[in-house]
Amino acid sequence: MERAAVTRLGVVAGVAVCVVIGGAVLAQYIFTMKKKAGRKTKIIEMMPEFQKKTVHIKNPERVEEIICSLIKGGASKLQIITDFDMTLSKFFQNGKKCSTCHSVIDNCNLITDECRKKLLQFRNTYYPIEVDPTISTEEKNPFMIEWWTKAHTLLIEQGIRKDKLAAVVRESDVVLRDGYELFFDKLNEHSIPVFIFSAGIGDVLEEVITQFGVFHSNVKVVSNFMDFDEEGVLKGFKGELIHVYNKHDGALRSSEYFHKLKDNCNIILLGDSLGDLTMADGVQNIENILKIGFLNDKVEETLEKYINSYDIVLARDETLDLVNAILQKIL
Ligand code: C5P
Ligand code: MG
Repeated sequence: MERAAVTRLGVVAGVAVCVVIGGAVLAQYIFTMKKKAGRKTKIIEMMPEFQKKTVHIKNPERVEEIICSLIKGGASKLQIITDFDMTLSKFFQNGKKCSTCHSVIDNCNLITDECRKKLLQFRNTYYPIEVDPTISTEEKNPFMIEWWTKAHTLLIEQGIRKDKLAAVVRESDVVLRDGYELFFDKLNEHSIPVFIFSAGIGDVLEEVITQFGVFHSNVKVVSNFMDFDEEGVLKGFKGELIHVYNKHDGALRSSEYFHKLKDNCNIILLGDSLGDLTMADGVQNIENILKIGFLNDKVEETLEKYINSYDIVLARDETLDLVNAILQKIL
């Protein structure tokens, strides 16, 4: 073949290869762009808080959809329904388990050592039942009633004084999750109603959030409140007992509160127990609800159950970062 012809052939072949490669690159680019444009989880993919290893979501598209609706609804439609112990408060800090409202009292100097021993025995008996993923809620119920009733009876026998509670809380290791200030302050700034529904002890709970400086006027606490006599000595507990697995009638008990909030049809629910999933049961006019669950204990054994029940599960995550990031988008 002539030299010039060979050169021509080489050039043509080179151009053809370039065209093929260029075409492939362009096709890949168009495909990626189309995929990006059609993606249904754009918001949560762009939020770094969702990329943490602690975050588990069964159906990201559904979560994206709910978050979009919450953003659209804005502040005027939003309300928060949240558990307290191990949800707003930390489960673990510095290698140690933190106190619940009850264990603030169990560990304080207002009770005798004998009483403390008994309360610890109760905890060792009943707490494993509370978090056992193999036992149904129905089976757990009577044990929970037994635990709460026995513990409250012992506390009443100790003649605990109301005026000592503030000091007891101050000396305790109960601590709110990282990011609590932003959480409470932002919600207050936008007048978002916050319903704290706790099976803990209301008086201790209110003292904790007061000492952390976040008991703002938008916060309502429903819990087991102590009943004191005229001398300020504990004589009983007010109202019907709330334990972790009977939270489904909370809205009924607080019907007036929720009636006033009938336009706040978008809910963010925060809990750590599977019992907390029922906290919004009976609330009328719910349009959108995002359920976020903190999984603190028995993580491996329980993760699947939590993922199937909560929209978002935060496993061994001691922060409110993800919740705050969502609030940031809405408010
Ligand atoms: O605020 P919340 O509903 O989570 O409060 C309930 C928590 O209190 C439960 O997780 C339970 O383990 C704890 N509890 C306790 N001591 C008791 C009864 C309940 O620490 N005597
Ligand atoms: Mg809890």
